[in-house]
Amino acid sequence: MESQDNKIIKGGEFLIKDTTYQEVFIPEEFDEEQQMIAQSCRDFLHAEVFPNLEKIDSHDYPDLMPELLTKAGELGLLGVSNPEEYGGFGKNFNTSMLVADVIGAGHSFAVALSAHTGIGTLPILYYGNEEQKAKYIPKLSSGEWKAAYCLTEPNSGSDANSGSTKARLSADGKKYIINGQKMWITNGGFADIFIVFAKIDDDQNLTAFIVEKDFGGITMNPEEHKMGIKGSSTRQIFFNDCEVPVENMLSDRQNGFKIAVNILNIGRIKLSAAAIGASKATIDHAINYANERQQFGRSISKYGAIRYKLAEMAAKVYAVDSANYRAGQNIDDTYEALVASGMDSAKARLKSVEQFAVECAILKVWGSEALDYTVDEGVQIYGGMGFSADAPMDRAYRDARINRIFEGTNEINRLLTVDMVLKRAMKGELDLMGPATAVANELMGIPEFGDADDTLFAAEKKVLANLKKATLLVAGAAVQKLMMSLSKEQEILMNIADMASYVYVAESAMLRTEKLVAMRGEEACKGQIDLMKIYFVEAVDGVAKAGKEALWSFGEGDELKMMLVGLRRFTKMEPFNVKQSRQNVAIQLIEANKYCF
Ligand SMILES: Cc1cc2nc3c(=O)[nH]c(=O)nc-3n(C[C@H](O)[C@H](O)[C@H](O)COP(=O)(O)OP(=O)(O)OC[C@H]3O[C@@H](n4cnc5c(N)ncnc54)[C@H](O)[C@@H]3O)c2cc1C
Repeated sequence: MESQDNKIIKGGEFLIKDTTYQEVFIPEEFDEEQQMIAQSCRDFLHAEVFPNLEKIDSHDYPDLMPELLTKAGELGLLGVSNPEEYGGFGKNFNTSMLVADVIGAGHSFAVALSAHTGIGTLPILYYGNEEQKAKYIPKLSSGEWKAAYCLTEPNSGSDANSGSTKARLSADGKKYIINGQKMWITNGGFADIFIVFAKIDDDQNLTAFIVEKDFGGITMNPEEHKMGIKGSSTRQIFFNDCEVPVENMLSDRQNGFKIAVNILNIGRIKLSAAAIGASKATIDHAINYANERQQFGRSISKYGAIRYKLAEMAAKVYAVDSANYRAGQNIDDTYEALVASGMDSAKARLKSVEQFAVECAILKVWGSEALDYTVDEGVQIYGGMGFSADAPMDRAYRDARINRIFEGTNEINRLLTVDMVLKRAMKGELDLMGPATAVANELMGIPEFGDADDTLFAAEKKVLANLKKATLLVAGAAVQKLMMSLSKEQEILMNIADMASYVYVAESAMLRTEKLVAMRGEEACKGQIDLMKIYFVEAVDGVAKAGKEALWSFGEGDELKMMLVGLRRFTKMEPFNVKQSRQNVAIQLIEANKYCF
């Protein structure tokens, strides 16, 4: 039964509020129709993408990628969550997360699809007026037109609002004339529609425009030579007196930066889903290889060192996967609640994602870093063959790396995580200081040990409650000590971001496991319980390390000593045989010969 409470969960609230397993959605709950959509995506990858990876990456067949997108569009894969009146299937946000997850295994194709369906299409869907949506969304849903998103410029990357592309109104007032240079534009080589951000006259803020290639005044450099995602088209694009009808301005003048930021929120959580999908595929390859490769007379999957890697990869993937779909459902629930309260659908979509912007930033970082860990250990499991361009790890390794850079670098997303939480606290939307003060007071008192509780997950719940306290302790002390200068102390902000992220992802893994046990019984979920516990080891150590570094950076004297004692108290975990848990997980993976959780 769905709790009504989950309609009012707020972004960032996980730090101060406990969630029950009944409130979260887990991927095992996808219904038959959603699973069929996922299967169509898998079938598409196997039939159209995997046999063509070399061709796609070579760029010798420039029409191949747009043709693949057209085919995906014909199958309905480009408009899964677009409203039916605009040629989509009208499915919820989490269904689009599922598509991103499965297609995430598709290397450059995944990037092209996600740029088209995400940053290319959503600005129109979420901010466009009726005429704009009616004109463009059906063609983007069907794949007849392909889209690109032009925000970055040579001198304006992370500082996205500082772009110098200009728009000025024509003398007859009918057109905006755009001049400027955009860089790193995904799908640039074949897009029919460009979402272009430019400043009108001397405006402070960007304005967004829908620019059709046929408007003219658009030229581009050849394809960039890249480390990875070589098959994804990436171009520098020049706008030379490009004339855009005034009716193609998107939303209001100077609202472009807001559009850019909000659309990136969606891009971030979807990137995490895609990264986890790519990780699952990497684990599949690694297990296959480990099972086949014989050294010292046995397959290397029999060795503990290899099993350790397989289990660690799977634990990270399981945990972030849990968090992805938890946040996706929060977005869906908030959307439903807002629409029920009378809000217009497009506005409700935006508001619901904006509400979970903290979680989107966390997931972008955690998904991309889980993928990088996975591909790195994947190469290692392949040994010398991991270094061969003829084996799959080469492409997986190179393609993974971009995920920590685009959709806001991981540094920017870590900084944003804390910045957004603190801003919400300051606006009174999130009561951080109350709980933080309670933790500080608790430290002065005698520790309460409470009654022993050996029910399933009681220990993990205690650990999580303590990890939240540790995060509040450090964040609260940093705010008090550093006040306004905290925003400049990036190392400390990054520490706090890591603490909060471990809390969110570990809690998500626990809630998923608890729900699964409630659905299937403990015996059937032993692997998931082991995965969760393995992830808890990383989370507890991660929170302890980040917390210590932060406290060392600004604490002093007796107060520092007391806070460090508190941090140690809040980052404890009962010992268990983690080696055995990793063995158990690895054996399940090895027997299934694929990622099976
Ligand atoms: C393959 C590829 C595809 C892309 N696709 C698109 C696309 O389709 N559309 C689009 O608009 N853009 C796209 N981008 C651009 C991408 O979003 C930017 O590269 C990214 O936002 C980083 O900007 P930058 O490259 O200018 O790096 P910079 O902003 O110059 O950053 C360099 C380093 O400094 C750090 N840094 C910067 N500012 C700060 C700060 N305030 N505090 C701490 N650290 C900081 C960064 O984290 C990074 O480590 C793409 C990029 C690539 C490589």
